[in-house]
Amino acid sequence: MGVYLYVVHQRYSHSNTFMQLETNIKNIQQIAQRKENENLSFHSFLKGQDFDKVDAIVHRLYGEIAPQINCLKCANCCLNLRPIASNEELSKYVEEKDIEDFKYLMSFPCKYLKDKKCTIYSDRPEDCRSYPYLHKNEFVTRILGVLQNYEICPIVFNVFELLKIEFGWRNK
Ligand code: SF4
Ligand code: SF4
Repeated sequence: MGVYLYVVHQRYSHSNTFMQLETNIKNIQQIAQRKENENLSFHSFLKGQDFDKVDAIVHRLYGEIAPQINCLKCANCCLNLRPIASNEELSKYVEEKDIEDFKYLMSFPCKYLKDKKCTIYSDRPEDCRSYPYLHKNEFVTRILGVLQNYEICPIVFNVFELLKIEFGWRNK
């Protein structure tokens, strides 16, 4: 069962809108399939909005939601994605002769993940540090990547669903 998202409850309580934080990956994957067309429609809607305004809302929602989700209980990004690492980053934990082979952390799930923890956490690539990229600008132009991460990352999933509420958007 998800956790109650108190910040959002407070904000929307006047409109009787109640949002529960979804953290179950199986549920998220099922909802993502069901909402595929809805999410594309919402993307079309966002393309007509002020991109800076969208970014500001996404940044705020990210700041509210990320602390409420425990990545150590999830690790789904490390299980499903292949982050890009620079040669310099790789040289911290891969022999030089092997660097080309490790350009994308090749193992799948990531070989550095043990018991849902990153064993090279302090040296992890910038790509891992930046995930799920919601602090970045131009959210609307990056939407295809966002929708891929919507299926993988509970933080992205919940931010995207709350963004619909923020804009008062409903699927027709
Ligand atoms: S290097 Fe660490 S943070 Fe990056 S994918 Fe692997 S386990 Fe996850
Ligand atoms: S998928 Fe998202 S919630 Fe899960 S560990 Fe990665 S960043 Fe955290």
